[in-house]
Amino acid sequence: MKQLTVSLPEGRSYDITISRGILARCGEEIRRIYQGNEVAVITDSNVGPLYAKTVLDSLKGAGFSVKSVSFPAGEQSKNMDTLVQLYDGLLTPYPFPMTRGGLIVALGGGVTGDMAGFAAATLFRGVPFVQIPTTLLSQVDSSVGGKTGVDLPQGKNLVGAFHQPEAVLTDPETLATLPERFFRDGMGEVIKYGCISDKPLLEALEAGTALEDLEQLLARCVASKKSFVEEDTRDTGRRMILNFGHTFGHALEKLHNFQDLSHGEAVGIGMVLACQVGEKLGVTPAGTAERVREVLKRYGLPTQDSFSWEDFSFSH
Ligand code: NAD
Ligand code: MG
Repeated sequence: MKQLTVSLPEGRSYDITISRGILARCGEEIRRIYQGNEVAVITDSNVGPLYAKTVLDSLKGAGFSVKSVSFPAGEQSKNMDTLVQLYDGLLTPYPFPMTRGGLIVALGGGVTGDMAGFAAATLFRGVPFVQIPTTLLSQVDSSVGGKTGVDLPQGKNLVGAFHQPEAVLTDPETLATLPERFFRDGMGEVIKYGCISDKPLLEALEAGTALEDLEQLLARCVASKKSFVEEDTRDTGRRMILNFGHTFGHALEKLHNFQDLSHGEAVGIGMVLACQVGEKLGVTPAGTAERVREVLKRYGLPTQDSFSWEDFSFSH
């Protein structure tokens, strides 16, 4: 088991616990930090059938009244319409309507975490919530930092709120069922952490030993994100280093209409491009882009794309 504590500027703090099998013990864990009685689990149509029963049974075992609300899996659900359906599910009288004293659990990947977190930030002007992330991306990245929100037709994550969880409970065993392409996707961000702040992690990734101890890998990435987030909770200064590879990455995702290129793949290519630009400008040591390219290749991630510079439109 690994545990990290995130300290927030307002004086509050919360724990991120990374432990095999914690899903089946989540009731006891939540009992420790939440004095109320009602827990609503929000999950998606893939994760629900796999893990909701374990979570609900554990919550019931700890004496909570529980309900669950599910939505169709995928980024295309991360919108206002689904959000309204979630509020509706939370407020339906059966088995009980959620009240101000209730707690929301986000069980799933980043889409679930962002949307359940935003529902928690806004329902009754804010109720507490707990993250139980089940994708590599959400375990190393999106469950930490308190950003929540949904997409609009005009773009991704355009409506949202900062709402910090009461706890993050991470079970590495859930990754066993994660489809390969989503695992690879998360590896793009893992490699980013190695590049921006954790040389031993980068070296373990290069040596091919990083995946031998998943708890350790997740804890290192979270420690890295935590250090940036604690310094800059509202994403205005140093936290921008977390965006390494993301400027080009976002542009590439857009060129692909957010389809056949995943976020992690796009970030990987973006890191290579950023290093190439840095090398050309003389601010990045020669060979850096090549080093990043090699480690991406090792984890099956692409290192270049078929766009040409003319496909980007630059504004000044
Ligand atoms: P996701 O939640 O859609 O999960 C990916 C897929 O894996 C889905 O089909 C899901 O149903 C399935 N899945 C999840 N866990 C599984 C498991 N254990 N076994 C089998 N299938 C499983 O996507 P994601 O990649 O986790 O997250 C992407 C989202 O996260 C984006 O919307 C992005 O904007 C957001 N994000 C938010 C932050 C933040 O700070 N809030 C940071 C990074 C990304
Ligand atoms: Mg990212």
